[in-house]
Amino acid sequence: MKTLPQIIKWLNASPSPFHVVENLKEELLRLGFSELKEKKAFVLEKGGKYFVTRNHSSLIAVALPKEDETAPFKVVAAHTDSPTFKLKPNPVIKKGNTLQINVEPYGGMIMSTWLDRPLGIAGRVFVKKKGKPEEKLVQIDKNLLQIPNVCIHFNRDVNDGYKWNPAVDLIPLFGQEKDDFDFLSYLQKECKIDGEILSHDLFLVNRDKAEKVGLHEEFLSSPKLDDLGCLYSVLLGYGDSVNEKAINVFAAFDNEEVGSLTKQGADSTFLKDVLHRINLALGGNEETFSQRVAGGFLLSADNAHANHPNHPELSDATTHVEMNRGIVLKYNANQKYTSDAESAAYLKSLASSAKVEIQEFTNRSDLKGGSTLGNLSNAQVSFSSCDIGLPQLAMHSANELCGVKDFEAMRKLIAAFYND
Ligand code: ZN
Repeated sequence: MKTLPQIIKWLNASPSPFHVVENLKEELLRLGFSELKEKKAFVLEKGGKYFVTRNHSSLIAVALPKEDETAPFKVVAAHTDSPTFKLKPNPVIKKGNTLQINVEPYGGMIMSTWLDRPLGIAGRVFVKKKGKPEEKLVQIDKNLLQIPNVCIHFNRDVNDGYKWNPAVDLIPLFGQEKDDFDFLSYLQKECKIDGEILSHDLFLVNRDKAEKVGLHEEFLSSPKLDDLGCLYSVLLGYGDSVNEKAINVFAAFDNEEVGSLTKQGADSTFLKDVLHRINLALGGNEETFSQRVAGGFLLSADNAHANHPNHPELSDATTHVEMNRGIVLKYNANQKYTSDAESAAYLKSLASSAKVEIQEFTNRSDLKGGSTLGNLSNAQVSFSSCDIGLPQLAMHSANELCGVKDFEAMRKLIAAFYND
């Protein structure tokens, strides 16, 4: 499977974290994995490949070796969510004949980039079926909404640093309707849903597609490159790997953009629960679990900042990260990033054998970087670990920018990690 076309295909088919998990499931099933349910006993075969989901928005896959009583866990973690806007429960606002949809920001987006562009809606609904709620994924794949700017004539200071108020400036226009309008009936009809909708987790979707940009088409412009560019490159590397000496684990967590403190986030017990149950189902005990963790390793794969050519002063004096120049290894003295000398030495030697370039990143000491998955996940199960990512620009904009070559570099590095 060619890396870039596949990444583009998946990016364009990922309107919500629920759809991301569907894509992961489909690919893992194609690769011979079978689904386990958290509510049922884990019955495993040595050499088997399995995955389990939580909340339909996080997923953990494991590939087991045929032999080995204390094979270590080798984990790569990425995240399924990106900043967007979430629809409120009864979202319709009516002003005369004008309809708007009430939303609130999910995560820390660059707000201005969401204005004046066509938007769709996607996520999941729960429908009443035989007295029980049933989940359905939905997507209205249409130009349905737009958040209109106030014209410059009414807001002369807009180019002097305007502060967007999400409750005032960022409410999308939805349409015009003389009669009463019922959003749930509309959704039911539009998504061909049979049964009463009880509740929903719905998000606005930037309708732009992933597209190559540049003199030599050397960049990829797309919504959600953070972190789906990483996540899907990791998935390809996972699919390329075969290892008889480790339990290879691929973890995709939801809610990184809102602090990971949900039942399915990186700071939940999801990874710990699954790894414990895998160890027990393989006939292990507390002792073998501790050995598997101590001998294991975690790569936290979340995108990194390339040096911005318009603002070189924002990059640290010793950081020179460029797109299309390989994978970024992130460090932070306060351990927001988990890399230390020992884990970095391992990663660098691995990358060198795999012929993948590594670029090292630190934030300027007066700029606070974002948080990510590694240190939160490590609070639950403590591995030796590194924070890595694809170099990118415009993180948390509606459209972000990556180098087209780096997806392949990530795929190679991840395959080498799992195969090592
Ligand atoms: Zn991220």
